Amino acid sequence: MVETPHLGMEHQTINAYGNDYRKAETGYDWLLQHEFAHEWFGNQLTNTDWDDFWLHEGFATYMQPLYLQWLRGDMEYFAALMKMRSVLMLKHPVVAGRPMLEKDVSDASRGPGNDVYYKGALMLHTLRGLIGDDAFFHSIRELVYGTDDPRPGQFRPRQASTDDFVAIVSRVTGKDYRWFFDAYLRTVKLPALLAERDGGTLHLRWQVEGDRPFPMPVQVRIGRRVVEVPMAGGQGAVAIAADESYTLDPHSKVLRDLPYMAEFQQDQAERARAAAEAAKAAAKAATGSAATEKR
Ligand SMILES: [Zn+2]
Repeated sequence: MVETPHLGMEHQTINAYGNDYRKAETGYDWLLQHEFAHEWFGNQLTNTDWDDFWLHEGFATYMQPLYLQWLRGDMEYFAALMKMRSVLMLKHPVVAGRPMLEKDVSDASRGPGNDVYYKGALMLHTLRGLIGDDAFFHSIRELVYGTDDPRPGQFRPRQASTDDFVAIVSRVTGKDYRWFFDAYLRTVKLPALLAERDGGTLHLRWQVEGDRPFPMPVQVRIGRRVVEVPMAGGQGAVAIAADESYTLDPHSKVLRDLPYMAEFQQDQAERARAAAEAAKAAAKAATGSAATEKR
């Protein structure tokens, strides 16, 4: 690492760092850790095109809560994921399916912007829950090193694309998971889990942009019991008594549409706009009274 005026950049074998060892609530600087993660996701493994930029940023970002979960446990892991969930932009797909320039991916008016970080990371959390830790970490080692058994001196820097990772996951698990990656990376909106009570049954249905298939299993807590719903064909049903309440995905395994998050973001934006206007009006009034005093 070399200390620089620039905040942080993941140069191969020697990161630029200028964030003054600022501590987050974790007790260490998240940025120093983030740039360090790029030695694997960015430098050892490099995207073939900037359209696959999430392979750098989504993985590097996910490594941060993952480290917290290992170091401190679940509370800090989920708290970090919740922060990410609240800032998703969801205006452009993370993967466009055509060659992209870095500036177009990073510019939120033309590309996914911060979603390559946070939507990428939250998608990886969901993938881990879906395929399990063994297959998840095996797939990542293959992505980064080209082998499940990397040893110093026995691997070289690699380039890979989104499709390469999808193929690795499918090979390692023995299942075709293209539906999963398509629903999260190649669409704009998040899958929505619709629930409807009908007598003694709770009907569940995934709604995905473009009516894409999404057989994502989900847990539902009915009263005090947690039920696994396989959601074959994107639909499922659970028995529920009239006096029982339910909670969808009670252990927060699946990234999905949450209408209250959009409401939160809209409320924040409106308040920021109002505060900016009030500040502008106050500045104008101050200039006006200063001018009056001079006269
Ligand atoms: Zn980064």
